[in-house]
Amino acid sequence: QVDRYLYHMRLSDDVLLDVMARFQAEMVKGLGRDTNPTATVKMLPSFVRSLPDGSEKGDFLAVDLGGSQFRAHRVKVFDDGKQNSQLESKFYPTPKEVIQGNGAELFDYIADCLLDFMETKNLKHKKLPLGFTFSFPCKQTKLEEGVLLGWTKHFKVRGVQDTDVVNSLRKALQKHKASFDIDVDVLALVNDTVGTMMTCGYDDQRCEVGLIIGTGTNACYMEEMRHIDLVEGDEGRMCINTEWGAFGDDGALDDLRTEFDRELDLGSLNPGKQLFEKMISSLYLGELVRLILLKMTKEGLLFNGKVSTALLTKGKIEMKHVFAMEKYKEGLSNTKEILTELNLFPSEEDCIAVQHVCTIVSFRSANLCAAALAAILTRLRENKKLLRMRTTVGIDGGLYKTHPQYAKRLHKVVRRLVPNCDVRFLLSVSGSGKGAAMVTAVAYRLAAQRKQIDAALAPFLLSLETLREVKSKMRTELEYGLKRETQASATVKMLPTYVCGTPDGTEKGKFLALDLGGTNFRVLLVKIRSGRRRSVQMYNKIFAIPLEIMQGTGEELFDHIVQCIADFLDYMGIKGARLPLGFTFSFPCRQASIDKGTLVGWTKGFKATDCEGEDVVDMLREAIRRRNEFDLDIVAVVNDTVGTMMTCGYEDPNCEIGLIAGTGSNVCYMEDMKNIEILEGNEGKMCINTEWGGFGDNGCIDNIRTKYDKEVDEGSLNPGKQRYEKMTSGMYLGEIVRQILIDLTKQGLLFRGQISESLRKRGIFETKFLSQIESDRLALLQVRRILQQLGLDSTCEDSIIVKEVCGAVSKRAAQLCGAGLAAIVEKKRENRGVERLQITVGVDGTLYKLHPHFSRVLRETVKELAPQCDVTFMLSEDGSGKGAALITAVAKRLHNVGQK
Ligand code: ADP
Ligand code: MG
Repeated sequence: QVDRYLYHMRLSDDVLLDVMARFQAEMVKGLGRDTNPTATVKMLPSFVRSLPDGSEKGDFLAVDLGGSQFRAHRVKVFDDGKQNSQLESKFYPTPKEVIQGNGAELFDYIADCLLDFMETKNLKHKKLPLGFTFSFPCKQTKLEEGVLLGWTKHFKVRGVQDTDVVNSLRKALQKHKASFDIDVDVLALVNDTVGTMMTCGYDDQRCEVGLIIGTGTNACYMEEMRHIDLVEGDEGRMCINTEWGAFGDDGALDDLRTEFDRELDLGSLNPGKQLFEKMISSLYLGELVRLILLKMTKEGLLFNGKVSTALLTKGKIEMKHVFAMEKYKEGLSNTKEILTELNLFPSEEDCIAVQHVCTIVSFRSANLCAAALAAILTRLRENKKLLRMRTTVGIDGGLYKTHPQYAKRLHKVVRRLVPNCDVRFLLSVSGSGKGAAMVTAVAYRLAAQRKQIDAALAPFLLSLETLREVKSKMRTELEYGLKRETQASATVKMLPTYVCGTPDGTEKGKFLALDLGGTNFRVLLVKIRSGRRRSVQMYNKIFAIPLEIMQGTGEELFDHIVQCIADFLDYMGIKGARLPLGFTFSFPCRQASIDKGTLVGWTKGFKATDCEGEDVVDMLREAIRRRNEFDLDIVAVVNDTVGTMMTCGYEDPNCEIGLIAGTGSNVCYMEDMKNIEILEGNEGKMCINTEWGGFGDNGCIDNIRTKYDKEVDEGSLNPGKQRYEKMTSGMYLGEIVRQILIDLTKQGLLFRGQISESLRKRGIFETKFLSQIESDRLALLQVRRILQQLGLDSTCEDSIIVKEVCGAVSKRAAQLCGAGLAAIVEKKRENRGVERLQITVGVDGTLYKLHPHFSRVLRETVKELAPQCDVTFMLSEDGSGKGAALITAVAKRLHNVGQK
């Protein structure tokens, strides 16, 4: 009779396989970016990426809210290789006014209990990391942050939904900190399913599923990152808290729900919600039994049709009653006793029937649970592309643990539904508390590492104040370089270029240009037209300069250059033409005229002997003479910054500054003659090549130089020189990154503490890799691939750290460069004596052009530090070539005018 009556609650394997398929579809829906918002099974990322590996250690606190009881724990974890841990716990009541009151009271209460616990365990004055087991659906964005999506089970606290529960707990603890001396750091928010998986995972490395069947029901499992749309990154796995209790909230299980399920739902705290949970968890089973018995009695099927007040009362039949009644071994005595207590007068037949009702209800619970678990296991197996899989499921929860037959039934059904999975069910001992400690232990290790990384990178974070200081120091050095008494010893040399005006558009003719001083050596032919057909045409050829020549003798270097020119002239068929030539020579030169330049000192990668102190134009002329094959009219020696300014000035007359952010870093600008003390004359302007790369060589910015900068400097060709350039330019940024990576690896924070052969190689980390790694669109997987190309075998975590290091180094570079530029534009503004300055800066250099953030940060910094200047940045198209030709053209014109 009962069987017929409860026909709907008996689920065949076919139905269960169908439920399993439905749940599989729900999981996919929850994981998808587009489908997640409407999914009922939320599949929440837990930010737990790995199981304990046994190297965890320390003393941890945990509080556990959301199970049948509220508890505080202390867990000691030992990394003695024996998977050893010690657990001490204390239970606290959860009064109804707390779990159905308001948020502030709830968190105060938790803090009170924790304080009490710490007092009893003598833990005050200790700084302990805390894991917070909070077994309600939370949307996490990191391990220590979680916004409550909605209460479940018997909780309904006001003002907590949609807020970060970790923050609330922290605040409550903070309040206590004022009056008591406790210091607790909430490091992880953990769902009880995750805690259970972690606890079992500590003992059994195969454990990758956590299951709770108690007051509530829920499951978590390790999902592949590439399937989790809501979290960036494709590498490795992350534990997903399925929140499967909400399965069916969209009606997906309506065909299986009975009138009793509906009635129970309507009388619950959260009608329409957690429908799957309401068919499974211990919080509802007793009530389901009561509703069934009530109906059966009303229909005269039980107790002679006599309904007692107790049977009419919600919550009168509890889980423990169901448990007791299902103890078949004890016959009917339990059942009889319980029913009698409810003022029902059961016959033996009644007792048998009621016992049967209990069994059907709890069996259905196990069946449904098994079907959903089977779906998870199948997904895991498919993720691993295995035909057969061995795995372990960690389980906790009162229903599973104390019900006399539940576990056995569940195991049996699961094995029937997924015959190709060998499942071990591992009972967790106090899973949620210890598990929170495990998660915390891992988090603690990560947090300690984080602190070390932050400490390493902290010197790269420059405050606005520091940047202002840099700007004003730069200003001081600029003045030093211009003043007669100080210029000889100035580090920012402020070299006059004898370029006195920007092009006016009347320039024309054919010119040769040389570009020496960057990555490539080039020879160019530039044709300039004026008037209505104004245009610039260029032909160029790139030549390599072998390292042995860059760092050989001066004669060899210039012979090589002339050899390249000869090749180019042959190639273009213009050997006999004796064209005017502009020589872009991007090193500091002291000039006495436009075509005389004495090399002050090599920078960047050059170090040829017998050149410093010599006139580079003479050296070039001599080399041409030595070759005795063609002749050239060397008209101008040009710095690349000046070439850049001139190129942009050709388009925009307001361009009076040239900036290079490439291999090196340098700036030129138009200065008023009256400010250039070392030159005669007070009329007009002249372009000054600042050579600001030498800024700081007197130690004036040593306060912001890090040990990594010093190492890069010491390993360079010109130790102690070009300190500012070494913090800001392409030749060095990668090398700074490499130094940091070595240091972090030594501290065991990267690459498993192993410094690979390739990481030891100077120059291996090129600045172009910073650009690639910092590109926003790049997934971590790609970062990893780049690192792999460099011979750096990195994990997902390593890649994140490397990206961070690159970001810190390039940001500082851009900010420092911006601070320097702010000093220049401010000076220009004062020179002109205007309230607001409109000015254009011509820029060249691959770092500026190709790095994903450098130019933006540079511009922002200038804006911040020179708010009275409206600075337009104009990219120069091949400044070194075109600019040199333009300068040559101007110089030629002036020269001709002079001769006439
Ligand atoms: P120059 O040597 O004349 O300054 P560039 O302006 O082309 O020539 O700068 C070349 C330098 O730019 C290289 O030495 C390197 O440090 C850097 N660099 C090269 N590629 C990139 C990139 N993709 N992102 C940032 N910097 C780069
Ligand atoms: Mg260049």
